[in-house]
Amino acid sequence: MTLAIEMEALRLFTGPAVFVTSAPTMEALPPPSLPEVAFAGRSNVGKSSLLNALTQRKGLARTSNTPGRTQLLNMFAIGEPAVLRLVDMPGYGYAEAPKKLVEAWKRAVIDYLRGRPNLKRVLLLIDSRRGVGPVDENIMNVLDEAAVSYQIVLTKTDKVKPSWVTKLVTEMPAKLTSHPAALREVLATSSEKHDGISRLRAAVLAAATDRELDPQ
Ligand code: GDP
Repeated sequence: MTLAIEMEALRLFTGPAVFVTSAPTMEALPPPSLPEVAFAGRSNVGKSSLLNALTQRKGLARTSNTPGRTQLLNMFAIGEPAVLRLVDMPGYGYAEAPKKLVEAWKRAVIDYLRGRPNLKRVLLLIDSRRGVGPVDENIMNVLDEAAVSYQIVLTKTDKVKPSWVTKLVTEMPAKLTSHPAALREVLATSSEKHDGISRLRAAVLAAATDRELDPQ
C-alpha cells in the first residue's frame, strides 16, 4: 500500500510542475479549486532544497532568503492536468526577536491558514541540528488554533548522527501530544542525500487526496 502510493507520488511529482503565482494577499490567490499542501519553517531550514528534491528539479523553488519574496506565498501546480498545489510559505524567525517575527509571519499567512478551505496540511520543517525552538512552538500554536493539520519534517539529517535522528523521531511524538493539530509521525529527510524523500512525497499526496499512510 505504502509502496504503491510512493510510486504514484514519484510519477506525479517528477512529472509536469508549473509555477502558479506569488501571492501577497489572500485576494491574489487562485480559486481554491485544488487541494494545497503548504511548507513552512524558519528561514534557512532547507525548504527550497526540499521542494526541489521532492520534484527532482533544481530551480522550482528559489532560496527564500531573496528580499521581497519573503512575505509571499509561492504556489506550484503539480500534474498535468494539475492534481494539487504545493505552497512555499514565507520563512520565519531570522535574526529578529522571535515574537516580532511571529507577528509578521502571522499577519502574512494567518488569513491563508484560517481561511483556505482547500489547505489539506502544513509540513513544518525543523532543522535536525536545532530541533524545535520557541519560534517553531509559536507557529505550532498558530496551527493548533487554526486547526490546520500539520506534520513535523526534520531537514538536513545528513548533518547529524543517525542515532540523533532516531532519538528525535522516537521521542518527538510524545511531546506532540500537547499539540492537537500535529500528526504523531515525524518525518526525517535529507535533500542532500535524498533520504526520506519518497516517504515525504507519499505523505504529501496522501494528505492532498485524503488518504492515510500505513505507519512506518
Ligand atoms: P530555505 O531558506 O529554507 O529555502 O533553505 P535552502 O533550501 O535555501 O537551504 C539553506 C541552506 O541549507 C543551503 O546552504 C542549502 O545548501 C543547505 N541545505 C538544505 N538542505 C540540506 C540538506 O539536506 N543537507 C545539507 N547538508 N544541507 C542542506
